Amino acid sequence: MADNSALLARRERLLGRNMSLFYQDPVHIVRGEGVWLWDADGRRYLDCYNNVPHVGHCHPRVVEAIARQASTLNTHTRYLHEGILDYVERLTATFDKSLDTAILTCTGSEANDIALRMAQAATGKTGVIATDHTYHGNTAAVSQLSTRMPPVGGFGGHVRHVPAPDSYRPLGGESGEAFASAFAAEVEKAIASLQESPFGFSALIIDPFFANEGFPDLPQGFLEKAVAAVRKAGGLVIADEVQPGFGRTGEHMWGHQRAGIVPDIVTLGKPMGNGHPIGGVVAGADTLNAFRKAFRYFNTFGGNPVSCAAATAVLDVIEDEKLVDNAREVGTYARAGLLRLQEKHGIIGDVRGSGLFFGAELVLDRSEKTPAADLATKVINDMRERGVLMGKLGIHQCSTKIRPPMPFSKEHADLMLSVLDDVLAAL
Ligand code: PMP
Repeated sequence: MADNSALLARRERLLGRNMSLFYQDPVHIVRGEGVWLWDADGRRYLDCYNNVPHVGHCHPRVVEAIARQASTLNTHTRYLHEGILDYVERLTATFDKSLDTAILTCTGSEANDIALRMAQAATGKTGVIATDHTYHGNTAAVSQLSTRMPPVGGFGGHVRHVPAPDSYRPLGGESGEAFASAFAAEVEKAIASLQESPFGFSALIIDPFFANEGFPDLPQGFLEKAVAAVRKAGGLVIADEVQPGFGRTGEHMWGHQRAGIVPDIVTLGKPMGNGHPIGGVVAGADTLNAFRKAFRYFNTFGGNPVSCAAATAVLDVIEDEKLVDNAREVGTYARAGLLRLQEKHGIIGDVRGSGLFFGAELVLDRSEKTPAADLATKVINDMRERGVLMGKLGIHQCSTKIRPPMPFSKEHADLMLSVLDDVLAAL
């Protein structure tokens, strides 16, 4: 077994102390293919975590597209090139017809930063509402939205946080329509507070799947009232699709389509280039033009021909390999398996999710629903020891995060479930 201590010391010396790593015993990965990863000792791991290699680690069609374009030309968007136009045409065809233009970036953080400024340009206001357990990225402006790492100097007066929806412990104990109304009432309160402030109200930014918040099972139409309140106040709705986008939830290409809403601005990232750094912002022409006029935006790398070739290949593979259908079928199958494990293991309080983004919330007791955050950490580490990589997340940091590359099959799900069964039995 390789000793990672020299590598760890070198990492700390060269990259600084606060670069976090997964697992008590970090994994030194050297190769990936499909849903599999190999470490430096040649040991194979089932990747149940990684949504970035969306169509599978090192998918040959994406690798080939990148290599072909990189050996032909790579420049920026100040020259004419069909690559970005062909891609944006394909991409926007998957959205509501009101969302027909795009800006390409390199990261999800940049995309959300632009989205906030688009909303400012369109409304003339700067106040933003986000949920209180979200993450939208790491620029100075966007890090103001994340409560997990409060910004140095505190939150700006222009940010309001509303309680993230939690279907396992709904606001005021309500469910269904009342749960949706309780969330909308919080949004209305935040809007009123911003309207009374010097900042005014510009936008509500949400992940329509609330992935980082623990992917609650929400009633159909949950967001409708909140969205209506935003529109009534003259604000914009920003849907952050970095997590649920590109068909991950198995029902629709986009999380907001699954939620039944049409946002004003949509932001994209992680899976878009299968690991090649590309993100984007999709909006209606008026919103995009207001932004371009106010901010005269240029991004040296965003939308370059190599990135567009990678992203186009990702769309091709999603379509040709029917990966959205696969996410739906395998996700349904795997969740049924988790429900069977729930009958056996009292620690599983709740099972939820959609498509290939699902998991179990772990609790110390089902009656009080006491979060089992430390045990969740142990489960994740024990899974890693047994060759299955997954994570944890959620409001209480006690939900397993199972979000594998999209070619994940029923056989892969069976393997993950049987290892989880063993790990839970051994707790
Ligand atoms: N939005 C959401 C919902 C995210 O989960 C993340 C990253 N985890 C981001 C935005 C930021 O994306 P990036 O790391 O590419 O800047």
